[in-house]
Amino acid sequence: MRQNITLREVGLRDGLQIHPTFMQTHDKLAWIAAEAASGMPEIEVTSYVPPKLIPQFSDAGPVTEGALRIAGLTVSALIPNLRGAQRGIELGVHKLNYVMSVSHTHNMKNVRRSPQESVADFRDIVALIRSQPDQGRPVICGGLSTALGCSYEGRVAVSQVVKYAVQLVEAGAQELVVADTVGYADPEQVRAVFKAVLAEVGSVPVAAHFHDTRGLGLANVCAALDCGITMFDASLAGLGGCPFAPGASGNVVMEDLCFMLDAMGYDTGVDLQKLVAVRALLSQALPDLSMQGALARAGLPRGYVVAAERQAA
Ligand code: ZN
Repeated sequence: MRQNITLREVGLRDGLQIHPTFMQTHDKLAWIAAEAASGMPEIEVTSYVPPKLIPQFSDAGPVTEGALRIAGLTVSALIPNLRGAQRGIELGVHKLNYVMSVSHTHNMKNVRRSPQESVADFRDIVALIRSQPDQGRPVICGGLSTALGCSYEGRVAVSQVVKYAVQLVEAGAQELVVADTVGYADPEQVRAVFKAVLAEVGSVPVAAHFHDTRGLGLANVCAALDCGITMFDASLAGLGGCPFAPGASGNVVMEDLCFMLDAMGYDTGVDLQKLVAVRALLSQALPDLSMQGALARAGLPRGYVVAAERQAA
């Protein structure tokens, strides 16, 4: 078997943040539990933002607490600022995903700060985390949005991505996630950006977050795999988008990504059939949800043997 890949479900945050209908807390928790039971190792369950800003996340507390009761699951949440970090620490979440945009305009729209101000905020967040007792400190992940293009500014320079990646790591990021927030990337660009980032940030794990807006999501995953990336964000049924990125659409479809990786011989630890079955919970809970997914539509190829069984045979 090829090396392990760590998948991270982001649909509850990236997908639900733009969905107009509130998903009931018990439905969110049922989704989290079912996907964790399929073998998903990490789920970004919510975002610690003011409920007035995004009412979908007004139940961030109970969703986090419920998810933390699931044994073996890494529970993460998005934070835009220090207040979000405080909330996450109080709740005992495992990982905080801080987000800033590489492009100035998107960062101003999303968090009303310049990227440089966002790096300064990140230093304060790391200081807050380090002031906590060792036990139960959350892992802090630095996220770089619009790293492969911006719907306001167009192309984003590789040197800018590298600059902020290095600054976040120097400030104390234990992980990075490099995101194509608006789905502008192509595989050649992915290779250029990830190689440049990996060359500068050393041993810090780097995850990739792609949107399938222009149909290149899985191709971009392959390009990132070629660079040695082993952590990927994706969302069930390809949910996703950004409230401040006009024209952005969903993330890479998690089921299709799992199938591709399994077919290529990578170990994701996720049971494909169980994962696809989780879609039924979503469509029952939110009938107005637009769901994508080729594996769910077409099914597994006849006689398909999953990677773990091919290896055992
Ligand atoms: Zn996204």
